[in-house]
Amino acid sequence: MSLSLKPLSQCKVFIVDDDEMVRLSLGVILEDHFSVDAYSSGQAVLEACEDLLPDLILLDINLPDISGLDICRRLKAKATFENIPIIFITSTYDTEYQNACWEAGASDFIGKPITASTLIHRTKNHLENKLRLEKLLQLTYKDSLTGLFNRHYLDLEVANVFKQTSRERKPFSLLMLDIDFFKLYNDQYGHPQGDACLKIIADVIERSIQRPQDIAIRYGGEEFLVILPFTDFDGVKFICDRISAELEAINIPHFKSLWGRATVSIGGVIYEHQNKVSLGELISCADKALYTAKADGRNCFRLSFCD
Ligand code: GH3
Ligand code: MG
Ligand code: MG
Repeated sequence: MSLSLKPLSQCKVFIVDDDEMVRLSLGVILEDHFSVDAYSSGQAVLEACEDLLPDLILLDINLPDISGLDICRRLKAKATFENIPIIFITSTYDTEYQNACWEAGASDFIGKPITASTLIHRTKNHLENKLRLEKLLQLTYKDSLTGLFNRHYLDLEVANVFKQTSRERKPFSLLMLDIDFFKLYNDQYGHPQGDACLKIIADVIERSIQRPQDIAIRYGGEEFLVILPFTDFDGVKFICDRISAELEAINIPHFKSLWGRATVSIGGVIYEHQNKVSLGELISCADKALYTAKADGRNCFRLSFCD
């Protein structure tokens, strides 16, 4: 089965070594096959990872500022970077040293002196595995119309985030959003245009949340969930206002709506562990608050503390 992966030539490979000769020689070998960037220090590569999100890193163990092992550990600890293969470039074959690399999260080693074809093939293999994994995660966890996470992701992953906030006794909030008069929208503009509208509203929701731990989910047909871990009442209100303002600004025409444009109603719940409730119960609370928002006239949000 073909998964239509992005071409290897577009994959970003970082070379990290303080020795300029090594950077240059690895760069010359790899640049015909991949998109290559080189860095001479740990700090520089950590900053570049935040901005450029590499697909693979070739890492020297001995760097002047932060050790290669430490860089590897730090990247593997963050969900955004955990699937990036890290290959150590080493001239040390000491077992203890190698074990330390595996434990830090290394995907492989390439020994010096470097053989060009081995370097290219190892890099290719690790990149292909990484791209396949990403694609499968996307197919498993993403809704194909909107690109948001799906119910499957909610069931399997969000429960873990919920547990984490419970352990740390930090607020956990969630919003349930439902497009207003969407049946009328489909009736007026047709189903394909309805799909396009869903996609635009999904993009608005995704743009409105900015913290890495926030999660937007397509919950049902024209219903969305926004998971806001570590977010209190003010934060929740801020997100609701932002979604409403953004929808007003992009102004999707909806002739049959009271406002002449597409709007959403939002039910939100802020949970601060005041009593013991499950994630399912919080979703029910948000659903009730959404029902109130609908009953109060739509195009508004209603928040509850689920107590
Ligand atoms: P309310 O303001 O009370 O939410 O009214 P509504 O019309 O939005 O709600 P209702 O539940 O009556 O209708 C939901 C509509 O959403 C009906 C269904 O055809 C449409 N819908 C659900 N999923 C999709 C989809 O994937 N694409 C399109 N185009 N429409 C969808
Ligand atoms: Mg609905
Ligand atoms: Mg609706």
